[in-house]
Amino acid sequence: MATPVVGVLALQGDVREHQQVLTDLGAEVVLVRTQAQLEAVSGLVIPGGESSVIDKLSRIFDIAQPIQDRIAAGMPVFGTCAGLIMLADTVVDAIRGQQSFGGLDVSVRRNAFGSQNQSFETQIEVPELGGPAVHATFIRGPVVDAVGSRARVMAALPDGRVVAVAQGNLLGTSFHPEMNGETRFHRYFLDRVAEHAD
Ligand code: GLN
Repeated sequence: MATPVVGVLALQGDVREHQQVLTDLGAEVVLVRTQAQLEAVSGLVIPGGESSVIDKLSRIFDIAQPIQDRIAAGMPVFGTCAGLIMLADTVVDAIRGQQSFGGLDVSVRRNAFGSQNQSFETQIEVPELGGPAVHATFIRGPVVDAVGSRARVMAALPDGRVVAVAQGNLLGTSFHPEMNGETRFHRYFLDRVAEHAD
């Protein structure tokens, strides 16, 4: 099979960690900051970081609309934390004027777990991925407050709060699998890329 060429949106956030996981899984990675770079990739990862900054920079770099067009055309996208916020159709507790790319039929609430020093790690069952529980790191992550009929829950905390969702070729997690040597979400994303390319 041909080596998949995938992008990591490289405007702000933990770009390198995603680049590393994807490279380790055998993908060719393009750091995406321009429309031309976006056109070269078959899938896109949106890293964790600060969604209001990623939003602003994506509009300054004239890449927000092209990303929305690719999402509408079915490009596989995986967003972690701020990346999930960028994929959500509705963002609660956004800063004034903040926009998302949208695509995922969910509503997310930013900073739902509190401030930076309330970061935590936990084990989460993700039946769809198979194998042992996922070790999940939460850093000012969002919670998925509402899941629309087009999206589905992939994982929730024991108290029921939804922290991973999928819809077609879109996948989003409130936590950071890229920080824990967890590769199953990235594999899932690369499987969507391979299918979409067929
Ligand atoms: N709180 C950040 C935001 O709103 C997300 C934090 C993260 O990506 N680790 O974008």
